[in-house]
Amino acid sequence: MRLGFHVSISGGFSLAVQRAHELGCSTMQIFSRNPRGWTVKPLDRADIDEFKRLREQYDIDPVFVHTNYLINLASTKPELYERSIEQFVIDLERTEHLGAEYLVTHLGSASGQEPLWMIDRVADALNMAMKLHAPRATILLENTAGEKGDVGYTFEQVNDVISRLNNTDKVGICYDTCHGFAAGYDIRTKAGVDAVAEKIGSTVGLGRLKGMHLNDCLRELGSHVDRHWHIGEGKIGEAGFTAILNHPAFKDVPKIMETPKETDEDDPRNMKKVRLLMK
Ligand SMILES: [Zn+2]
Ligand SMILES: [Zn+2]
Repeated sequence: MRLGFHVSISGGFSLAVQRAHELGCSTMQIFSRNPRGWTVKPLDRADIDEFKRLREQYDIDPVFVHTNYLINLASTKPELYERSIEQFVIDLERTEHLGAEYLVTHLGSASGQEPLWMIDRVADALNMAMKLHAPRATILLENTAGEKGDVGYTFEQVNDVISRLNNTDKVGICYDTCHGFAAGYDIRTKAGVDAVAEKIGSTVGLGRLKGMHLNDCLRELGSHVDRHWHIGEGKIGEAGFTAILNHPAFKDVPKIMETPKETDEDDPRNMKKVRLLMK
């Protein structure tokens, strides 16, 4: 099983691979730039070459890039909507320049709008982005926790977006366990995990499941609050993660932890926990 963390790109992409390797990762996730600003620094050719060389040397595969947080592909505001599409394309291009396999994106939010309106809005944005730049990397739509205004908190909604796309060759999904739990998908038991696997299978299809965000959840089932927590120490708990990690539908899917990093001990502890729960 490919396991890794979201790691910082501070100091360069090659340093990010180094960090991932030191944590024992066989896959990793990064931002392609500062995730909370619109400014984009040009990519440094030498750094990218070193990034590619190191990931091959350390066998870190696949690499996920996560989109900038300011991007909102469902925004009701025309200016932000257009900018989000442009910035999404920038993230996609940077993902490809890095040689990364996947670009993970949230679907977006639009308070006060019906899910159907948002589904159309997001699909239009993705169609436009893919028209501006035909993707070589695969775009992964991530399920959300369903916080106020969010779309994409059910697999039906995610599938509705995919079914509106003009081309789905380079489209898949990333299943975030914390977001799903907060949205009401109970994975505390083997039976619950079976049900989620069946749900993904009957909506988007398990073939589109290319990555997972392995996060425990600090808040209750169905809370619609997105607070990631350490593996086995949150409301999903050890039994839930044992079921997830050993389920045939999820076993071979690369998994990225986006767990809190309050001390240097947190990532190693989470990695150890996951390895312990795998049979
Ligand atoms: Zn996530
Ligand atoms: Zn989250």
